[in-house]
Amino acid sequence: MMLGLLLARAGVEVLVLEKHADFLRDFRGDTIHPSTLEVMRELGFLDALLQLPHQKAARINAQFGDLALTVADFAYLKTRCPYILFMPQWDFLNFLADKATRYPTFRLQMNAQVTGLITEGNTVTGIQAETSQGPLRVHAPLVIGADGRHSTVRECAGLRGLEFGAPMDVLWFRLSRKPRDPTDPLGRFDRGRIFIMLNRDTYWQCGFVISKGAYEQIREGGLPALRKRIAKSAPFIADRVGELQDWEAVKLLTVQVDRLDRWYKPGLLCIGDAAHAMSPVGGVGINLAIQDAVAASNLLASPLREGRLTVPDLHRVQQRRAWPTVMTQRLQLFLQNRVIGRVLDTTQPLSTPLVLRLLARFPFLRAIPARLIGIGFRPEHVKTQSVWPDETASG
Ligand SMILES: Cc1cc2nc3c(=O)[nH]c(=O)nc-3n(C[C@H](O)[C@H](O)[C@H](O)COP(=O)(O)OP(=O)(O)OC[C@H]3O[C@@H](n4cnc5c(N)ncnc54)[C@H](O)[C@@H]3O)c2cc1C
Repeated sequence: MMLGLLLARAGVEVLVLEKHADFLRDFRGDTIHPSTLEVMRELGFLDALLQLPHQKAARINAQFGDLALTVADFAYLKTRCPYILFMPQWDFLNFLADKATRYPTFRLQMNAQVTGLITEGNTVTGIQAETSQGPLRVHAPLVIGADGRHSTVRECAGLRGLEFGAPMDVLWFRLSRKPRDPTDPLGRFDRGRIFIMLNRDTYWQCGFVISKGAYEQIREGGLPALRKRIAKSAPFIADRVGELQDWEAVKLLTVQVDRLDRWYKPGLLCIGDAAHAMSPVGGVGINLAIQDAVAASNLLASPLREGRLTVPDLHRVQQRRAWPTVMTQRLQLFLQNRVIGRVLDTTQPLSTPLVLRLLARFPFLRAIPARLIGIGFRPEHVKTQSVWPDETASG
């Protein structure tokens, strides 16, 4: 959606196909990072976005064994919006769709599931889709696979990559939130348990981290046992764990971390999760996907508009975005394997890692996690110009 908006704004004809009828999906991250808010500001959309219901988190707190501390403090960031904004992903997508459809070169077709690619030799020249009106074939000088971590486009293009294991999966669920509860996002680490809580005003979006593949065993143990473990992780919420009435309320996220070797082939480019599924560590997948979109539009808008797109242009997008992706995944894998895996496996009292002791002692160090989570390794800025009158989308 973001890349479609940016290309259409720069005068490129765009068709976005979305397989669902709406964007009302289950929770898959409601975070909008400072760097994305900066992109919104550059586009002139920030004030309108901030009119939508949201919450702000200026810091991220953790409880590691007996030590309670702030691990990331966004106040250190020199940016217009030094906080993580929480907004349902469907509100953000509808907002972008609304802005994008004001550009005459943008079209969004819902209920349109891409099922295959049209090719000539090794070159992709379009897509085949199933829509509510029947089969659809579209020819295009470039197909962008931005269809997530189970990407059909990537699969059809035969693009392959590296898969990195993960020691954990995550159970997601909601519990109600009371006015006297804490406000900041919270991660609680204790022997054998990691519990994440995100403040969504009237409820907590909760993530209970479990060892990889342990879901069936936890289900066999029954809901009362899970409720007990949750209550132990966050005693202030013990009075509400009964809200988990059945397993329907608990969604399993199978953690997947991978990265394509090559993100493109003639006529096709993958970005976002389709090119690199991120670990949930740090909650940065949306940010990376948006940054890919900004970089892709900066590099591809002119060649596309002028009909001179070449394979080296696509290579430049990967070259630009591979480094921040690799660095982020390396950091995530380090934390997954060295901290999360160990906490989940241990039955002994936790010894506090040096990095957390330093963060507790020297508050200015909290600027580093804030920068890594909120901005990332290579923030992108909108370099393309709108070809439309100013009021087209900002009105
Ligand atoms: C449970 C969960 C929690 C998460 N929490 C966070 C978080 O807190 N913060 C964070 O930054 N990230 C989080 N993530 C990761 C984040 O959701 C992704 O990294 C991010 O959404 C990737 O964006 P994307 O546009 O590449 O793909 P997606 O957001 O997956 O979007 C892909 C789109 O393509 C559509 N689509 C798929 N196949 C087809 C097809 N064949 N034809 C047409 N349309 C198709 C899908 O319906 C979807 O709308 C979470 C993920 C999950 C699963």
